[in-house]
Amino acid sequence: MDLQVEIDSSGDALQVKLRGSLSEFSEEALSVLHKYSQQAVTINFADVEQLNSSGVRVWTFFIGTFAAKRHVTFTHCPEILVSQFAMIPQVSKGCEVISVIGRFRCDHCHKVYKRLYDLRALRQAGELLDTDAPWPCSVCGQAMETLEDETFFDFINEGLDPKGITA
Ligand SMILES: [Zn+2]
Repeated sequence: MDLQVEIDSSGDALQVKLRGSLSEFSEEALSVLHKYSQQAVTINFADVEQLNSSGVRVWTFFIGTFAAKRHVTFTHCPEILVSQFAMIPQVSKGCEVISVIGRFRCDHCHKVYKRLYDLRALRQAGELLDTDAPWPCSVCGQAMETLEDETFFDFINEGLDPKGITA
């Protein structure tokens, strides 16, 4: 599915929800956002399912101009995006990453669950994420296994660490 851009411009802050695949074909869909004058913009990535290298190029080009004159926050960033943050700083340059989504699998229920990490709350509390803390399955109560690799959690904690990189 090509990228779909849902826009709610009714409030003081522009609310944007991206859905589908961020690729070389996403340029036009994203460029629509330039016509909105709101200074504060929240972009929700929860439903971004694919991101290829051309998509990263298109995105980097877009956000470089878009975020230059606005306060842009990213929410619900999935692993495919978080792994890019770690490798290519331009993907989130000048933007604040507020929350990311980690995936956990319950081997007992054979299901994958998503967990939202509120980085802003952790940052305000001056806390780092306890990456070893177990997350029990809400159905059967067994401890679940994370599907994310170390880079994902490293990114979170580097972003939270005042001495580390600022996300
Ligand atoms: Zn379970």
